[in-house]
Amino acid sequence: MSDSTLLSTDQNITQSDNHTNTKNDASNAPLKIAIIGGGLTGLFTATLLERAFIEANGKAVVPQITIFEKSRSVGRLATRYRSKVHSDAIHDNSDKQWQWAFGAQFFTAKTTSFQKFIKPWLATNLLQPWCAQVVNLTPANDAGQSADIQNKEQWSSTQARYISTPKMTSWGRILADELKHTTLNFKTRVAPLLARHCTEQNSVNSKTELFDENDNSLGSFDWIICTAPNGQALELMADSDFTEQAMISKPQMQACYTLMLGWDDVQQLPDSLSNQTIPWDVAYVQDSILDRIFIEHQKPAHENLLPSITIHARNDWSEAHVDNDIEVIKAQLLQAAQQALNWDMKSTPSQVDCHRWRYASTIKNIDNQQLGILVDDSHQWIVSGDWCAQGNIESCYQMAAETVKTICSH
Ligand SMILES: Cc1cc2nc3c(=O)[nH]c(=O)nc-3n(C[C@H](O)[C@H](O)[C@H](O)COP(=O)(O)OP(=O)(O)OC[C@H]3O[C@@H](n4cnc5c(N)ncnc54)[C@H](O)[C@@H]3O)c2cc1C
Repeated sequence: MSDSTLLSTDQNITQSDNHTNTKNDASNAPLKIAIIGGGLTGLFTATLLERAFIEANGKAVVPQITIFEKSRSVGRLATRYRSKVHSDAIHDNSDKQWQWAFGAQFFTAKTTSFQKFIKPWLATNLLQPWCAQVVNLTPANDAGQSADIQNKEQWSSTQARYISTPKMTSWGRILADELKHTTLNFKTRVAPLLARHCTEQNSVNSKTELFDENDNSLGSFDWIICTAPNGQALELMADSDFTEQAMISKPQMQACYTLMLGWDDVQQLPDSLSNQTIPWDVAYVQDSILDRIFIEHQKPAHENLLPSITIHARNDWSEAHVDNDIEVIKAQLLQAAQQALNWDMKSTPSQVDCHRWRYASTIKNIDNQQLGILVDDSHQWIVSGDWCAQGNIESCYQMAAETVKTICSH
């Protein structure tokens, strides 16, 4: 039987590019709000803004919100899948696929407000708790250290971790679909803001005109909310006279390389994955350039996948090698993965992919002080994103909530 493979990255979160959700039909001029970035911070912000104005119960006109996203996907929430097409597929329609959540793997909900926010999607099973068995894994090495594996914890026994099903991107799609007063413009890169683009600025209001990279006007807005990673936010606001510009570069973000591995069959898995003496779903790797290993096909509602493993390299190692040739990186990670999972010729993965995230995680402050959103009241500009807090999905929600509070207080 000859197999061919189809590679696909789950990039479309809406049915069409430049997809438009319902427009505002309020008669008196609604507030116009632009959100740069269609990642979770952007989507949460639009969701909470809509809710805040709707909950004002007719006392306020619901704003017209537009999200501009340069790519076709939901930011750093990413799923890659590859179908295994059998030559006898004509008799067997059950094409199977490998699937890797190669960005965020899971998220926490520590605060009561975020727990309340995710509740409706938990009820529909779109979001599910992941009670993963977690181990510390020390690979054998050339210096004679033998491989070691130790139980670490089971997630949910102390604190719940959640995933989106069937894919990590599914939640983004649903969030986008549920927006009623928001227009989503994908494949639209917003050009850096310039001071002269602020067309109206007085004591009561401010308007800013946005442009795309080809200098086409994207419209004038009362509020601009930038949710790009801080390296990109820095460039976007560099010549705009943004009052908080110096603060953008305060938090540091680090890169992450992600290795994606797939096997054709569970029988072909190395013993470390198929006959585990200590069963595990997630391994924290010690003494290695690898950081964590995630077994995708053992996640809830992922049972039908072909054996798929996602491995994140350590952030400090990734940052130090961020400009290296990706093929060289892939070979180094593959070697480290072989050392950790201990496969031989018969159990070599058939699928190997590598992805570079230039902006993956935020270095946490020693004092745990978070920056919070950056507000320029005079221009009505807000710079936000996960990096303004702890650099995770829960931070996206916190920063979205802060943004909405700021706009509503005006
Ligand atoms: C490898 C990796 C592993 C992770 N693991 C976890 C985890 O286990 N748990 C967890 O909670 N979090 C994790 N995270 C972090 C999590 O993915 C992020 O916190 C979250 O996705 C950030 O969302 P965001 O909307 O703030 O930023 P982003 O998702 O980066 O969205 C910003 C968007 O802005 C767009 N943009 C930038 N410039 C422009 C422009 N000029 N015009 C238009 N659009 C623009 C970008 O294309 C991007 O889509 C991980 C991240 C990575 C990369």
